[in-house]
Amino acid sequence: HQPKDFLLAVEGLTVSFDGFKAVNDLSFYVEENEIRVIIGPNGAGKTTVLDLICGKTKATSGSIHFRDKDLTKLKENQIVKAGVGRKFQTPSIYDDLTVFENLEISFPRGRTVFGALTFTRDAVVRDRVHEVAEMIFLKDRLNMSAALLSHGQKQWLEIGMLLIQDPELLMLDEPVAGMSVSERSKTAELLNRIIKNRSVLVIEHDMKFVEDIAHKVTVLHQGQILSEGTMEKVKNDPKVIEVYLGH
Ligand code: ADP
Repeated sequence: HQPKDFLLAVEGLTVSFDGFKAVNDLSFYVEENEIRVIIGPNGAGKTTVLDLICGKTKATSGSIHFRDKDLTKLKENQIVKAGVGRKFQTPSIYDDLTVFENLEISFPRGRTVFGALTFTRDAVVRDRVHEVAEMIFLKDRLNMSAALLSHGQKQWLEIGMLLIQDPELLMLDEPVAGMSVSERSKTAELLNRIIKNRSVLVIEHDMKFVEDIAHKVTVLHQGQILSEGTMEKVKNDPKVIEVYLGH
């Protein structure tokens, strides 16, 4: 395979913090329309990998090809424009705005036709807000203050704020942490809906959820891949069992 055969091709990725390699010569490949889950014990390097992809941390060496671009050569805002969205664990929604307004302000500026009349742009944005609100189970909550949403609904709203920018790769850090059982299964449904147009890269600790959503699992340990494949394969891998149960 060539890197261009994949949506995301991470090759030889390394980052050192004062000589300590948090990510060490890591290579992995994500296909289009794939849900990939990264698991691994605390300190394995999972967050650092997402930080490297979104440009928050600069790589010491290696490449991250996304389509035809090497993300290691781009700045954070250029990476967002290239089509990579990242949701952090702490919600960054605006509590004093409504659900509609939170989605509306996230619509990319300058995305609509140049010179379009204001009402044309407004209509495009409104349609897209409704489309996304439906996807994130909030179409009946558009006029509600975001402050009044449940924890799970706030997480969905934040995913919606990324979806409205139509990223081709969406990265999520523990998306179901703190969610109820029914919110978890709706989140799985949401991810399965949105990969029709993109791929999703998720860090997750909840193994039941990983089992529900992952097409493929990458197990990190000490900045390297310990095992990779279907959940079925990695959970029966003796190396994985040792790392998870051996401590
Ligand atoms: P995980 O998300 O798998 O728990 P992290 O990616 O957060 O792991 O961290 C991997 C390792 O890199 C840890 O040992 C952590 O202390 C170290 N690390 C992460 N970021 C930095 C940094 N900015 N400076 C120094 N060490 C860091």
